[in-house]
Amino acid sequence: MTDPFVAQSHILHRAFGQRPEKVVSAKGIQLMLESGKTMYDATCGPSVSVLGHHQPKVTDAITRQLNQVAYIYSGARFTADPNEELASMILESRPGGLSKAIFVNSGSEATDAAIKLATQYWHERGLPNKSHVISRKQSYHGNTIGALNVSGHTSRREIYRDWISHNVSFVDSCYAFRLQKAGESTNQYVQRLRDQLEAEIIRVGPDNISAFIAETVSGTTLGCLPPVPGYFKAVRDLCDKYDILLILDEIMCGMGKTGTMHAWEQEGIRGPDIQTIGKALGGGFVPLSGVLLHQKIFDALAAGSKGLLHGHTFQAHPIATAAAVAVQKIIKEQDLLNNVTRMGRILEDTLEEMIRPLPFVADIRGRGLFWAVEFLVDPEKGVAFPEDSRFCNKVVDAAFENGLNILGNLGVTGDIHVEHIIIAPPYVVSESDITDIVQLLKVSIEEVSRPLL
Ligand code: PLP
Repeated sequence: MTDPFVAQSHILHRAFGQRPEKVVSAKGIQLMLESGKTMYDATCGPSVSVLGHHQPKVTDAITRQLNQVAYIYSGARFTADPNEELASMILESRPGGLSKAIFVNSGSEATDAAIKLATQYWHERGLPNKSHVISRKQSYHGNTIGALNVSGHTSRREIYRDWISHNVSFVDSCYAFRLQKAGESTNQYVQRLRDQLEAEIIRVGPDNISAFIAETVSGTTLGCLPPVPGYFKAVRDLCDKYDILLILDEIMCGMGKTGTMHAWEQEGIRGPDIQTIGKALGGGFVPLSGVLLHQKIFDALAAGSKGLLHGHTFQAHPIATAAAVAVQKIIKEQDLLNNVTRMGRILEDTLEEMIRPLPFVADIRGRGLFWAVEFLVDPEKGVAFPEDSRFCNKVVDAAFENGLNILGNLGVTGDIHVEHIIIAPPYVVSESDITDIVQLLKVSIEEVSRPLL
């Protein structure tokens, strides 16, 4: 049934049966609703508001930029101080050889730009056939047609299949908890994934392949899932062996969420050739995302057409970049990555202590302040919930009623059914916030579990 508010609103809301709550103000980690209720924003929206809500220094930076120059078209002839400053802040140390940035507005745009840049790179190198992208099952890289094309999220793809499924194929995700075989060691599992990827590269033909794309730590679809040790090293080696670009999607897991600025820094690899960032980049004060490029991409373009075949009206909007400079300065000045690591350990311990003993809790995993709880109907035997159980959605709904905003896996994502919820509080979270959040989660899981026991 359509909710009367949704029916009357001129906004096309996403869930017709559910009346959205109006948020009237927000401070720190709390959202204040029109109904008078206060909620913990325990996932920063979808992993965005990493400084919490309301930061006077960011407000000042935005206001200063508005008064100086609100808009320029950053496509060709113009640039602005905050655009240059933001790129320098991220790339000055040339992490993994990344040396150039493009700033766009959303994660999906960043994925599209990354795919297009990879394509242009091969054209500039005189290899125009290299255009196929290998992605992974149960992946999500965005909602635009281009980004959806490389996303292995079956339910999101389904009705658009005539628009997508071009020049793309999918291999298994690195999901040891469900897909590593009994008795298989980590090395054997990595080798199996490596063999599968290599077989796919050979099937398609390296001369036809532009890039392999993966999230470094999988976010919404598989629930804050870090790779097993050695996985990305194997992927990096294969990309080098067959001259394929490695695109790492760090839109959700990057910019500090796992405790290092880039999640791949914990993988012992030299880095990706192209990296996407978003969400935490602007901390939710502005819409902003970006694509980071290895120097070799720039060199190929510079030796070739000397330009970029991509652009948007609102790319590198100076208000957005000014806000992001302020966000990144706060993270640095307050040494917040240290807090991510410290509070992350406390969050892990608290989840282990309070959530692990609950029924249906099968796995607790994550890094930094990016954690998920996965549920199985029979954790001991490894039996998944049926697809229509909506167990995690019910936990999300119960949590919402209890004053806790969290994320759940809101869709079936391929040939394996995953039920999980995410807790990803802001980098400024305190120990007492963590206790409150996990306590509310505990109560919510218990409420949903009780009738099933
Ligand atoms: N890539 C990943 C890993 C994401 O989690 C998301 C969004 O959740 C996107 C891309 C798309 O970003 P956006 O919703 O800003 O377009």
